[in-house]
Amino acid sequence: MSEIVIPLHGATRKGQEFDYELSDAFLSDFGRDVLEGLDCKVHLFVVQKGDWLEVQCAIKGNAKVQCDRCLEDLLLPVDVEETLTVRFDAAPEDVVNDDDNVIILREGTSEMDLGQTLYDLVCVSLPMCKVHPEGECNPEALARLSKEEEMAKEPVNTPFSGLKDLLKQKEN
Ligand SMILES: [Zn+2]
Repeated sequence: MSEIVIPLHGATRKGQEFDYELSDAFLSDFGRDVLEGLDCKVHLFVVQKGDWLEVQCAIKGNAKVQCDRCLEDLLLPVDVEETLTVRFDAAPEDVVNDDDNVIILREGTSEMDLGQTLYDLVCVSLPMCKVHPEGECNPEALARLSKEEEMAKEPVNTPFSGLKDLLKQKEN
């Protein structure tokens, strides 16, 4: 369970508000493959709508990722507003649900962990191409990378490279 767990029984038609902070500690549940750091405020507004709930999510702050070009830290703004629908079913595992904004829980569920949902919302909101604005990449890192690239292109002469060629000829 993440730290973002909201009670469901207390939801009213007037709505109930929850505030959370998503920090680096929050990421420890999800690994740091996409996000290296996170500093966001989350505001949730949960409204009872008959037999289902509406959860309005607002996530604001910034996320630290790795720049695709210079591999240095890059801070990206996060500004997400999404409305989720929470439905209840006796057999939620049998319900076909391909809408990311619809969450189906077992009837009688008293609380909901929104950690994964909020994490996904942040990740999806970020641009596909994560790079510093033109000219703002770390020049030293770029120089180092292009040097490494150059080195990788040079043919490697080891005592075994000749042997490999020999084996290849044999195979053919
Ligand atoms: Zn960069």
